[in-house]
Amino acid sequence: MNSYLLKLGELTLKGENRRAFEQILKRNCLAMLQGSGAKLELRHGRFLVHSPEEATVQVEDALAHLLGIAAWAKTRIQEKTPEAVLCSCVSEAQELFSRGVRTFKIEARRTDKAFPLDSYALRREGGAAVLREVPGLRVDVHEPEAVIAVEIREKAYIYGSCRKGLRGLPVGTAGRGLLLLSGGIDSPVAGYLMASRGMGLDAVYFHAYPYTSEQARQKVRDLAAQVGRYSLGVRLYTLNITPVQQRIQERGLEPWRTVLLRMAMMEGAEQLARYRGDKCLITGESLSQVASQTIENITCTESLVKLPVLRPLIGMDKEQIIRLAKAMGTYETSILPYADCCVLFSPPHPVLRGDPAEARHHYERLELTPLMEAALRERVVETCGLYRA
Ligand code: ATP
Ligand code: MG
Repeated sequence: MNSYLLKLGELTLKGENRRAFEQILKRNCLAMLQGSGAKLELRHGRFLVHSPEEATVQVEDALAHLLGIAAWAKTRIQEKTPEAVLCSCVSEAQELFSRGVRTFKIEARRTDKAFPLDSYALRREGGAAVLREVPGLRVDVHEPEAVIAVEIREKAYIYGSCRKGLRGLPVGTAGRGLLLLSGGIDSPVAGYLMASRGMGLDAVYFHAYPYTSEQARQKVRDLAAQVGRYSLGVRLYTLNITPVQQRIQERGLEPWRTVLLRMAMMEGAEQLARYRGDKCLITGESLSQVASQTIENITCTESLVKLPVLRPLIGMDKEQIIRLAKAMGTYETSILPYADCCVLFSPPHPVLRGDPAEARHHYERLELTPLMEAALRERVVETCGLYRA
């Protein structure tokens, strides 16, 4: 059996909401651990996961994807006797030593004042026991390679390697948004960032079959599944945008094509969001990254929708976005070469600073409503990356 101690992050700031947040975190944690045989114990606002040895990989992977925890550590749990605690310090130190660690310090906390060693004595005696039993280790109080933590609470907890959690807020504490998910680098990151603020995710992908390939669609599914590992699944809606695109090609002024297509996507997405009860739209737009993302064109793009449009990447440059994409694991999929609908369709000289009134005028002449309605009617839905039953 392994035990993991989970430290809650921002949750500690939430005052009276704290209990509700904890309940959601608990539900998320259980959903992500489903099938592993792990059990969850909640005690004084601390989470403990107990799991069978053979589920180690699955459990650690789940904890590495769990939003709302500041840190987690594989922990030894002992009865509260000085002998048992010191013995665990030594075992922990031996394990660290075998992993190449050479310097350490002990940090101790005693909330149970009945325990005979206070935190100072715990540090001193723990350190002495380790030095005696693990000859290759040295104490370094300033820059230790590892910290052995000892906490004396209702039981004694001893752990030597604390891993950083993803922080953020538990998914489901901030309602649900609809992510406009393309096969690019940006939109999966945008979805992840909103999930990390507690938002559940639906996603919509506008597919331009047969101009875009089945691989392009599979790529978006894969991306949705990867984002879904953090957001407890993503419900992915695929809409065929081809008839809309063809109409724009026939009737729209060439420089306006991309902006008009974006307006149509936003309008379609908003209808889907309302049907699903999603509270906002989410895009991967970043200011001035491409012609369609100048502030003027963004204004045109969103001029038809009433729901808030969240753009968590708006102030980031491509390098920052790529760093995030790599960290969350979507980058390699995003750079697969299958073309997205917009790439095939981009005009050589797009409008750079569209006027919203003019955009609207062009848009209305396209009479897209029946085409978008058909696309919505024929939507295909699938669930990706689902942990929750
Ligand atoms: P990304 O890397 O997310 O594709 P991008 O830099 O390529 O973004 P654009 O192609 O201009 O930028 O798209 C801007 C945003 O519009 C995307 O981040 C995404 O939210 C949305 N979007 C673009 N194409 C599609 C599509 N085919 N289906 C759904 N949403 C899309
Ligand atoms: Mg794109």
